[in-house]
Amino acid sequence: MRAAVGLATIASDLRWRISTGHVDRITALGIAGIASPIGAALLKAYVANDHHSYCDALGLMTKRVKCNFPYSWKEAVARQALREMLLPFCTSCLGATDESDGNAYLVVQDIKVLCPACQGSGKRLWTDTERATGIGVDVRAYRIKFEKLLVEAINSASSDLRDLHIRLSDWLDD
Ligand SMILES: [Zn+2]
Repeated sequence: MRAAVGLATIASDLRWRISTGHVDRITALGIAGIASPIGAALLKAYVANDHHSYCDALGLMTKRVKCNFPYSWKEAVARQALREMLLPFCTSCLGATDESDGNAYLVVQDIKVLCPACQGSGKRLWTDTERATGIGVDVRAYRIKFEKLLVEAINSASSDLRDLHIRLSDWLDD
């Protein structure tokens, strides 16, 4: 009997803390998302794998692409920027870095080698050809017209995401 009461107390206490934690986090994300809308949409798209948040992020990022190109080209730039932000890991080593030195390795015939695809960073290194293909243009057009826009789109969204993290870490201690 004492054990059952003790368990119930612990269980209800746990339930209360877990639900309060969730509500706190969701509320904080909602408030922080007003100031950093792209950051909040990106975080939800990345963590919750939520398609609606992906669409929100795409629409907001497209609006920020500053050029005279038709909307569909701006959206293509934003889509590639999103692709790079949501798929950040090297496709060879999957971003698995070694705890000893922070580098990513592959094991080839029992020999540990620095991952050649990401040069050990664990991060996916996009080539100009991959980026041009992602946007739907040839490499020459990409370098002349789209590279600067893509870098700006990634930097702007990254800055929004950083702002969101700072706000959230101020409010939530875990
Ligand atoms: Zn790698």
